[in-house]
Amino acid sequence: MSILIIGTGYVGVTTALVFAELGFEVTGLDADERKVQTLSEGKLTFYEPGLQDLLDQHLAAGRIRFTSEAKQAIRQNTILFLCVGTPSDENGSADLRYIRAVAEQIGQSMDDYKVIVIKSTVPIHTNERLTAWIAEAQPHPIPFDVVSNPEFLREGSALQDALHPDRIIIGSRNQAAGLHIQSLYENLNAPCFLTTPTTAEMIKYASNSFLATKISFANELARLCEQLDINVGDVSIGMGYDHRIGPHFLKAGIGYGGSCFPKDIKALLHIAKEQHTRLSILEQVHEVNETQVEHFLQLWERKIGGFAGKRIAILGLSFKPNTDDLREAPSLAVIRYLTSQRAQVRVHDPVAKLPASLQSAGVRQLEHLEDAVAGCDAAIMCSEWDVYRNADWEQLRDEFKQLNIFDGRNVLDRQRLTELGYTYSGIGNAARN
Ligand code: NAD
Repeated sequence: MSILIIGTGYVGVTTALVFAELGFEVTGLDADERKVQTLSEGKLTFYEPGLQDLLDQHLAAGRIRFTSEAKQAIRQNTILFLCVGTPSDENGSADLRYIRAVAEQIGQSMDDYKVIVIKSTVPIHTNERLTAWIAEAQPHPIPFDVVSNPEFLREGSALQDALHPDRIIIGSRNQAAGLHIQSLYENLNAPCFLTTPTTAEMIKYASNSFLATKISFANELARLCEQLDINVGDVSIGMGYDHRIGPHFLKAGIGYGGSCFPKDIKALLHIAKEQHTRLSILEQVHEVNETQVEHFLQLWERKIGGFAGKRIAILGLSFKPNTDDLREAPSLAVIRYLTSQRAQVRVHDPVAKLPASLQSAGVRQLEHLEDAVAGCDAAIMCSEWDVYRNADWEQLRDEFKQLNIFDGRNVLDRQRLTELGYTYSGIGNAARN
């Protein structure tokens, strides 16, 4: 059986390779011809552990191919997965322009029955809107079904998450179409929940909102722990033993980022507003996240007597380790704050690249960690790559001008760093050193 994946970004490429791994013939369709060319040459267009091997393997076996010829690809496949982006609009709502463009392409191109599966994260009732857009674009009526199948993978562990999902959510008005899509996943050994399209759409937003709530809860608690000289990390450990709470997403830090949480929280808040309903908890989740960077930067700024004229190293640019994705990365907010305070900023990241706009603002990226910290008054860790946990901090000591470490992810070994002579401050654990 063959499957068409429309949109070959983080989700599309991962989904395409997982289906190839499950034995299907897969075509990846993207409007970006350069991306198609690069993927066809066996090169990924982003960094994600584990995907390169699968790409090499399935390209060589002829099980996956990439194209930008939409009409032909749509006609050659019966099952079409939509994995295009749904970024935030100016008012916080999800911008459905890519979904709509694909709907029109499908309607105009299809010449027989299709099952169109929405994997992108979309507002409630998008399944119905997509159905209408496709039908309107058809020159004459041809039957099709639209199934909602939201994706829950996390960048940095996308392949593992997609191969071993906690659950598969399928929302379909037509039970046969829903069961057909469920059968594609039968070898994944994951519970499958068949429901309505609107419920499936809400499950995705509600799940991301709940995870963001746990993070913002820990982050706000960190502000109080900071005042009371309590280690918020230990509080999270103690809470996490309770199965009703669980340890995940309870670690305090400088805030969540990435391509999903910030935009999905804003989108759900917008949906609530449209329905004249307040999600007051979620409003605060967003507010805490928006102010977390500044809250801790101001604390740290006082510790080193102001950032003006100081040289500061940023460790980790990507919004989290094992990805090169910079969308809504807290590091960018940190850099903006530092440059506004006239600090000199040096950046290190194992894979992510500094945006050109920051280069022209005088921020420099260094390839080697020792060069990034050389002559610095402080290092601020923004994403917890292993290279920083495992760094030789004893040797790096000679490079710093002043031995200040601000650990925005609470993962470095405070005791060891202190023994080495560093002044260590984390999030919610550094009231009195
Ligand atoms: P992305 O921006 O990396 O990729 C989207 C791709 O769609 C791009 O390559 C773009 O060129 C392509 N595209 C746009 N219009 C097209 C068209 N008309 N025809 C063909 N291709 C087209 O996006 P992503 O991060 O993979 O996210 C995709 C969706 O999945 C979003 O709704 C997102 O919220 C959701 N999601 C993302 C993640 C994640 O971790 N990235 C996790 C779960 C869900």
